[in-house]
Amino acid sequence: MTQGIVRDTPYDVAVIGAGVVGCAIARELARYEVSVVVLERSGDVGNGTSKANTAILHTGFDCVPGSLESSLVSRGYHLLGAYAEEAGIALERTGGLLVAWDDEQQAALTSLQEKAEKNGYDATQILSAAQVRDREPNLGEGVRGGLAVPGESIICPWSTVLAYALEAASAGVSFLLNAQVTGVARVEGLHVLATGQGDVRSRWLVNAAGLFSSDVDGLCDHDDFTVTPRRGELVVFDKLARDLITSIILPVPTQRTKGVLIAPTVYGNVLLGPTADDVDDPFATATTEQGITRLFEAARKVVPKLVDEEVTATYAGLRAATQFQDYQIRVHAGEAYVCVGGIRSTGLTASMAIAEYVTGLLGDEGLELTARMLVPETPDMAPLGEQQLRRYLDAAAIGRDPAYGQVVCHCERVTQGEIRDACTGVLGANDLGALRRRTRAMNGRCQGFYCGAEVVALLSELSGRSPAALTGLDS
Ligand SMILES: Cc1cc2nc3c(=O)[nH]c(=O)nc-3n(C[C@H](O)[C@H](O)[C@H](O)COP(=O)(O)OP(=O)(O)OC[C@H]3O[C@@H](n4cnc5c(N)ncnc54)[C@H](O)[C@@H]3O)c2cc1C
Repeated sequence: MTQGIVRDTPYDVAVIGAGVVGCAIARELARYEVSVVVLERSGDVGNGTSKANTAILHTGFDCVPGSLESSLVSRGYHLLGAYAEEAGIALERTGGLLVAWDDEQQAALTSLQEKAEKNGYDATQILSAAQVRDREPNLGEGVRGGLAVPGESIICPWSTVLAYALEAASAGVSFLLNAQVTGVARVEGLHVLATGQGDVRSRWLVNAAGLFSSDVDGLCDHDDFTVTPRRGELVVFDKLARDLITSIILPVPTQRTKGVLIAPTVYGNVLLGPTADDVDDPFATATTEQGITRLFEAARKVVPKLVDEEVTATYAGLRAATQFQDYQIRVHAGEAYVCVGGIRSTGLTASMAIAEYVTGLLGDEGLELTARMLVPETPDMAPLGEQQLRRYLDAAAIGRDPAYGQVVCHCERVTQGEIRDACTGVLGANDLGALRRRTRAMNGRCQGFYCGAEVVALLSELSGRSPAALTGLDS
């Protein structure tokens, strides 16, 4: 993995955390004549909550009207939608369908429609039970009605983070990976950030540490909020299940959670989840028997045929929930510090708008924002979506480079050329997780059973790490 090197001269801005939020902020700042470093505790960008979500590009129809989250989600929806098209990030405008299963839920549809309008989204449509069934014939018995939300979309969350990071890096932003910030001191008007790789100094500090944003806030002598990880478990069904649904099927949301949905993925699978359980441990990303059982119970009612389909994988992600309903984005005047915490369940969608907002706050605080003469180029991301022209199908690409014609992972049809591309250049993959997120290799129904050895051998050759190190057999 390419990493920056701790340098003597202070950066203008240090961003703690290379999740979707930190990388979006780095990308936005890269448009200006400022020096930026991103400090990340793990070995890759997008390796925290940003790698394990439901991958919906939300319209924001059900946000709390008037909240900061509402305005940033609706703006982020448009910004990321446009950016995805430009950068070749897989995006499908499937639409969402909120289904009511009893009188109370049906009655709630009108107020949900009003709420959507208050959130600036006026394209929802209340549907009769027959209209709902027409759209989704595989729904279970007992549908009472529904609310169509045509703008809800699905997106590739992994390419999104990587695109932001690559664009930022191409404009000179340094990424310091495996660099957990363990202390923050204020010395002669600068932030001095202690990391295992040495001290990093910066004039401004942005805390985008996700689940650890309240800990980092503590390092900066603030305790404005507390993060309680809210675990969401999910089940990924095999591609054979994809035809069971056409859109994102949503429940009527509650105060606490958007509830369990059934959604297609841009990779051609079907997702079921997430649960919402508060946990103490910010590393508790294992799934549980109880969680998965609850998901299957929910699915049995909503799309009964789904429970008979083959499961490809399960995973869990942790939302950075706090005691507050809204995002916790706070600028500490006079301290050159902006905290970007509590970005719970909509941060993927809102990321570009959060970045714009935070950059504005930094500007208000005194960071000089002179636009670069040379605007950073939008990266051209590898096509990971089933609706895109995948490399193995791209005759022109194969003609130019036969490595795109050599399939290594047969479940996901990932070619040798894509694995090579993912492992080389800026922010190249140097572990299996990073490679999976960049290519989909080993993410299919065999989960690497058949292609694992070849994928590991290629990654080992390209990254210079031993197969034992890559598979954890050396520990
Ligand atoms: C189950 C689930 C479903 C979701 N579904 C959706 C959805 O459909 N649509 C949507 O828009 N959003 C969704 N979200 C929310 C979205 O995933 C998050 O809001 C977003 O990923 C948060 O990004 P982040 O950058 O704030 O946090 P993270 O991705 O966690 O990034 C924070 C980074 O900071 C690093 N870090 C922490 N402490 C330190 C330190 N001291 N020093 C250096 N680095 C540090 C971490 O290693 C991590 O990489 C979902 C979330 C979950 C859990």
